[in-house]
Parts: sequence; C-alpha cells; structure tokens
Amino acid sequence: MVDQTRIAQLIESVTAPGALQSLADLVELCGLIEEDKGWRDPPQSFGDFIALSHSELSEALEEYRIGHSEAVSWNNANGKPEGIPSELADVLIRIFSRCQMKSIDIVDALQLKTRYNMTRPHRHGGKVL
Ligand SMILES: [Mg+2]
Repeated sequence: MVDQTRIAQLIESVTAPGALQSLADLVELCGLIEEDKGWRDPPQSFGDFIALSHSELSEALEEYRIGHSEAVSWNNANGKPEGIPSELADVLIRIFSRCQMKSIDIVDALQLKTRYNMTRPHRHGGKVL
C-alpha cells in the first residue's frame, strides 16, 4: 500500500513556488552544454529531437537485452558512464536541452502534471497498460 501521507507531503514540497529551482538550473545547464558542444549547428527539427530521444530509450533497452540490471552503472575504459541509468539520463538531458532551447517551462509542466495526476481515478481510462 502506498503511503498517502508521504505522497501528500511530497506533492506539497515539490510543487511549492521555487521548490525545483535546482531542476530549473539543470534544465538550463543541459541546454547550454548542448549549445557549447556544437549540437545545435545545424538546428535539430522537432522530429530529430523526438527520434534522438527514442534512440536513447532504445540504447537503454539494448543494455537490458544483453543482461544488464536496471540500476547498475559503470565507466568504460575511457571513463564514459555506461548502463541503463546513463541511457535514461541521456533521455532527460535531450528533453531538458530542448526545453531550454524552446523556452519550455518543463518544471512548471511537471508540477502541474503531477498535481493533475493525483486527481485522476485509480487506473483511469481502463487500459491494460
Ligand atoms: Mg546514450
């Protein structure tokens, strides 16, 4: 059973004004690094962005398919982080970078959506997955 009191505490703490400033800073940083490293020349289309985000999820799936556990990370011989956590981080980095470039307030969207999701009924929509 999920601790409803804990959920209520977390909702209040993460949706309070300014609560996620460090996340907003991370979003900005991801975008600035992407720009600094030259990945915006030429500019990516929205379709490029979606496809590249999917590719990171596919990389995570491939790690899983070859037997790596979901929470296990390691560095390769060149010091590059590897594993499913790293690929999931890549997904977020791509999304955050896009949000920074397009002035999408993803922190606000996350707060709004989280609050909204709490108002939805159990397994809303009746779908299997
Ligand atoms: Mg990757």
